[in-house]
Amino acid sequence: SGTEIVTDAVVIGAGPCGLFSAFELGLLDIKCHFIDILDRPGGQCAELYPEKPIYDIPGFPVITGQELTENLMAQIAPFHPEFHFNRMVSSLEKQEDGTFRLTTDADETFIAKVVVVAAGGGSFQPKRPPVDNIEAYENKSVFYSVRKMQDFRDQHVVIVGGGDSALDWTLNLQPIVKSLTLVHRRNAFRAAPDSVNKMQRMVAEGLISLQIGQIAGLEGDDGMLSRVHFKTDAGDVSIPATRLLPFFGLTMKLGPVADWGLELNDNLISVDTERFETSVPGIFAVGDINHYPGKLKLILSGFHEAALMAQAAKKIISPDERVVFQYTTSSTKLQKKLGVA
Ligand code: FAD
Repeated sequence: SGTEIVTDAVVIGAGPCGLFSAFELGLLDIKCHFIDILDRPGGQCAELYPEKPIYDIPGFPVITGQELTENLMAQIAPFHPEFHFNRMVSSLEKQEDGTFRLTTDADETFIAKVVVVAAGGGSFQPKRPPVDNIEAYENKSVFYSVRKMQDFRDQHVVIVGGGDSALDWTLNLQPIVKSLTLVHRRNAFRAAPDSVNKMQRMVAEGLISLQIGQIAGLEGDDGMLSRVHFKTDAGDVSIPATRLLPFFGLTMKLGPVADWGLELNDNLISVDTERFETSVPGIFAVGDINHYPGKLKLILSGFHEAALMAQAAKKIISPDERVVFQYTTSSTKLQKKLGVA
């Protein structure tokens, strides 16, 4: 059935602490694959506060959540990490040969020598719009994320929401759909201004339509949508639709992390402070998801944790290699890896 990917390290979660892990692992020649439920990197910074300034990232007197994410992505680019978005790691188990097997809800399997759990506050889960019987349509014609664009080709698509996900998918899906209607409760959007401008141009050109109103009901058979009903200031509106994408924001739940047999402390993963390793050797945890005496849930703590975690991961992946401590400033070896020497 699904695909199998074999790699050195799988990082669960592409929040800031997960992202920086790829830098520290990369300096030690450890290749990473990221898996994240969200459709983009950045974790809480990208999902909860992209425009808010952060004042306690060392060396940056002020930086927004989105800028920090972009900088981290640029910093790890030399190591070519691979990203698998829009999927949740559902299972994680140690195999007899000491490697780890992870499965996702997108029917993939990853085999890794080490696993870094950087799951932050846990799984982001989509908020359901308050519409009767929507469950019957979920994963058939109602989706909370776009996994395969092809599933939307030649469909009558309704997208609901005013944030980045709603606007990005409006722009990306428009060229392949039969019709696209964007619905938002008010004529003001939280998404990046550039996306909002592009969307408005598409409306002006008649490529998509925009409805200001609230979703009120679904019509269809066997989970397949045929119409979506809205309440607008001008009255009730109903439009033909075969796909609905509601982007009503996300809530965080611990999720499958709790089922992986790792020792927990009040819903956080217990780690030591030398290796940031969990109760299962070879599985590490960094960032908001871990717990140890004195833990501070700050991004800067996660950066430090990632550096020590990578040293310990290296010993597992290359037990016979002696790791020499080096500075990026002065080591040509490290600079070659970074592509600057
Ligand atoms: P997260 O950023 O939480 O990322 C975890 C990722 O893991 C998520 O993307 C999630 O989708 C993914 N994930 C979880 N489970 C799974 C799974 N099973 N499968 C696949 N993916 C999974 N910190 C500061 O240091 N300074 C600040 O000024 C500051 N301000 C903040 C303001 C706000 C409003 C908020 C909400 C937080 C703030 N924080 C701040 C906290 C900071 O955002 C977190 O410490 C940081 O995001 C933790 O990073 P992380 O990488 O550990 O996890």
